[in-house]
Amino acid sequence: MNKPDTPPKQLDIIAVGAHPDDCEIGCGGTLAVLAAQGISVGIIDLTDGEPTPGCDDPKIRVAEAHAAAATLGVHRIVLDLPNRRLFDSFEARIALAKQFRIFRPKLVLSLNHKTPMASPDHWQASQITDGAVFYSRLSKWDQYFDDLPVHVISRQLYYHLFFEDEWSGVGAKQFVHDITPAIESKLEAIRCYATQFPPAKDYVYHRVRSIAGAVGATAGFEYGEVLTSVRAIGSNDLMTTLQLN
Ligand SMILES: [Zn+2]
Repeated sequence: MNKPDTPPKQLDIIAVGAHPDDCEIGCGGTLAVLAAQGISVGIIDLTDGEPTPGCDDPKIRVAEAHAAAATLGVHRIVLDLPNRRLFDSFEARIALAKQFRIFRPKLVLSLNHKTPMASPDHWQASQITDGAVFYSRLSKWDQYFDDLPVHVISRQLYYHLFFEDEWSGVGAKQFVHDITPAIESKLEAIRCYATQFPPAKDYVYHRVRSIAGAVGATAGFEYGEVLTSVRAIGSNDLMTTLQLN
């Protein structure tokens, strides 16, 4: 379970986090649902998330991360950008864009907000990902990408960590994805991070479940996750979009 897997040649969907556990908390249910549909899904952590107060060895955190990925049924790649010193830079954008050019995802999920009173890496990761999605498609710049072929990513969605200060409800271009079948997998994946969420932080699980329940209820689901589309979401099948058939 804890062994890193070998990602396939191509990943349909890649979620990007600053640290191992960001993607699980923000969109773990969505990733588990998609993986269960047979879609190839990957998580890229820009850093290994260490050091943190509760973890004695970065290897433990990486092992937790791979166990969490296995729980969700997704592949995982941990890049070696520096935790706590993560900055949106040319080099960071190139490092992530190279992964996009290698794995050629159709859809990228990413952070998109500041997390005041918590790690500023999240906001930097958001900007790095936006930059890398753009860099992935740029021609006549092959020398920066080890001559990897350009790749156009069709869609980008933002996920949400729901820190206390950012609850703002579901608004324009946001939608709720039904994660009811995967709520337990999501929580189990977060529980894999024993170093980050010891018993004293048990409230995190209650909070994650409660938020998923409240968000899901706004769309008539038992549990849901909010996703924000970078572009307006169109429909060419209104009855299906509105779940009327
Ligand atoms: Zn984080």
